[in-house]
Parts: sequence; structure tokens; C-alpha cells
Amino acid sequence: VSTDASNDSDKTLIDSNTSERTLPDRVDSVDSTDDYSWNRQNSLAATMKEWDIPYEDLNVGDAIGKGRIGTVYRGQWHGDVAIKLLDTGNSTDNEAQLAAFKLEIAILRKTRHENLVLFMGACMKPPRLAIVTSFCKGQTLYTMIHLNKNTFKINKAIIIASQIAQGMSYLHARAIIHKDLRTKNIFMDSGKVVITDFGLFHMTKLCRGTKSQCVSNEKDNWLSVPKGWLCYLAPEIIRSLQAMQQSDLPFTKMSDLYAFGTVWYELLCNEWPFRSQPCETVIWQVGKGIKQSLSTVSAPREVKEILMSCWSFRSNDRPDFAQIAKALDRIPRTRLIRSPSHPCQLSRS
Ligand code: ADP
Ligand code: MG
Repeated sequence: VSTDASNDSDKTLIDSNTSERTLPDRVDSVDSTDDYSWNRQNSLAATMKEWDIPYEDLNVGDAIGKGRIGTVYRGQWHGDVAIKLLDTGNSTDNEAQLAAFKLEIAILRKTRHENLVLFMGACMKPPRLAIVTSFCKGQTLYTMIHLNKNTFKINKAIIIASQIAQGMSYLHARAIIHKDLRTKNIFMDSGKVVITDFGLFHMTKLCRGTKSQCVSNEKDNWLSVPKGWLCYLAPEIIRSLQAMQQSDLPFTKMSDLYAFGTVWYELLCNEWPFRSQPCETVIWQVGKGIKQSLSTVSAPREVKEILMSCWSFRSNDRPDFAQIAKALDRIPRTRLIRSPSHPCQLSRS
């Protein structure tokens, strides 16, 4: 493992001489592992039509930022929207990859929950592949916690965590694994949690080039790990990190739970776990089942228990999101704000 200083200081690179350097020929759908069949693609194409937004219909405004799979623009389409324009390079001529994009869209259109970003449609005509969602006017938890250094009172943290758990519980009930749950993908919009980017992790495959590119380019022997990504990865994911396989990592509902644990830690402590430790150390510790210590965290026992259960080394020992929501609800709020010097605060609550 080494750090790529020449290219992008935000990236850590993991050498994997022994890893297979091929990408699978088949792209799995999220709710099924069936092979592509001609019929399936055809019926999908028909359903997809109603979600197709011609790119020309969008009024694309300023770029807001660039993420792993493309650039997000603010735009207008019957009101404010966010347009995620995929960075597909020259790989969109590959029909299987376009079909993979449509499968991801098929996932997004199934989602309706107040704590999930509203999917509005997609531009599905190569080379312009884009996802159109409602525009979140608030800030991400990442901005609030790590940039603006906001701190949350414990009761507020519980409300936020509870809304995240509800949105995630809904996703899991619909057989959707988020795969990229982190504070950068959670907005606070008018006091309400809005989770974004669920299920899109598969698209790294779409945006990372073809098999031949992987083999020919020496850089592709390395897996680049975006800054701040590692601490959301469950031990079973960490242990399977290999070059060129980011999009084939073994994400499960349980790995989403682990990522939630990290978000919960950030809400409580205003920092990432394993802060300022080198990536190699984090990989070694998490892979061995060593957790960030909570000894200096001043929070009620129940709060720490939830966190530790999400970070369980064995994925089956982690609770599900419905259990998390219940556990959060059970934390006695009055006790949390009780202060001997302000007895009246307790009665008002
Ligand atoms: P990342 O998640 O790593 O920040 P993204 O590509 O998802 O990368 O997002 C790029 C930028 O666009 C970020 O600043 C993000 O907050 C912003 N963004 C993404 N989706 C929306 C949205 N629906 N509404 C407003 N801003 C968004
Ligand atoms: Mg994002």
C-alpha cells in the first residue's frame, strides 16, 4: 500500500500483483443475479422509456462538484434539479455497460421515501448519461461536521440517526444496498435527512473503462481509495480490497450497517474514526477486527452499544436498520438533557 503523491493527494493506492485484473463480463442487477436475457432487456427498455429525459430538455447550470462517477450540476427541469452527468469516457459504446446504467436506473425508480433523494429521471442516450434528482438545498452532514465544525446535541444526533435508519431500512426492505453510505451522501434539508447516491456504486464499473484499458495501463495495478472512504468499509470489504475490483466488492446490507456505524460516530464525535492514521494502519486494524476506541467519547451506554453493534466484526452480529431505529427510540431523552444545575430544563422537556 502506498500513497500516490504525484497524482492526487486525496488518494491512496493499494498494490495487488496477485489480484485478477479482469472485470466480469456480466453485470449483475441489484435484485436479481439472472443473466441478461433478450426478453428482460426488452421489457426493461419499455419501462425505462417513461423515465428517459432528453438531455436537451434540461437547463444545465453550474457544476456543483465532482465525485467518483461524474460531475453534478445544478439545473432546471420543471424546477430545481441536480444533474449527475456520468464520466463515461469512451466506454459508452459498450452495450452491456449501457444496460448496466439502465439497471441502476431501474433501482432508482423504485424508491419513494421522505428520507431518500427524489429520483426524477435519467438521460439515457450515449454519450450523455445523466441522473436527474431533486436538488437538495441544505448541506451534507460532511460539510456540517467536518468543514463547518458544527456539533450536534445528543438529542439532535439521535433524530438524525433515526431518520437515516428509516431511509436505509426502507432501501433494504426494497432489496437495495446503498454501498456508499457516508456523510457526503447525506443532506440535511430543512431539518430533514435526505440520503443520496444509493445503488450507484456499481456505476464505477461503467465509468472506469474497459478490460483492455485495465490491462494495458500500468496504473490499473493499483486500487485508488478516495480520501475518507476507508472508514466506512466493513472488515469483510477491507479484506477483499484488490486492484481493479472496486465495483465487485462484497457489499451487503450488513456492510451498509457498518457504514452507518461510522456516520453515527461522526455525529457523536465530529470526526472520522481512526482520524489521522495512515491508510495502511486502518486497513490492518479493521481487517483484524480492531475498532476505534470509544473510551474518550462521553455518551450514554446505549449510544455506544448501538455503535459497537454496527461495527461488529462478524457481519451477522450487526443489527438491521429497523432494530437500530427502535434502539435509538428507546434511548431515554430526558436523561440525556438532565443537568443538575438546570432542573427546570428537565421539566420543560
Ligand atoms: P460526493 O458524494 O463524493 O461528494 P457526488 O458526485 O455525489 O460526490 O457529488 C458532487 C457534489 O454535488 C457534492 O458537493 C454533492 O454535495 C453535490 N450533490 C450531489 N447530489 C446533490 C443533490 N441532489 N442536490 C444538491 N447537491 C448535490
Ligand atoms: Mg455523492
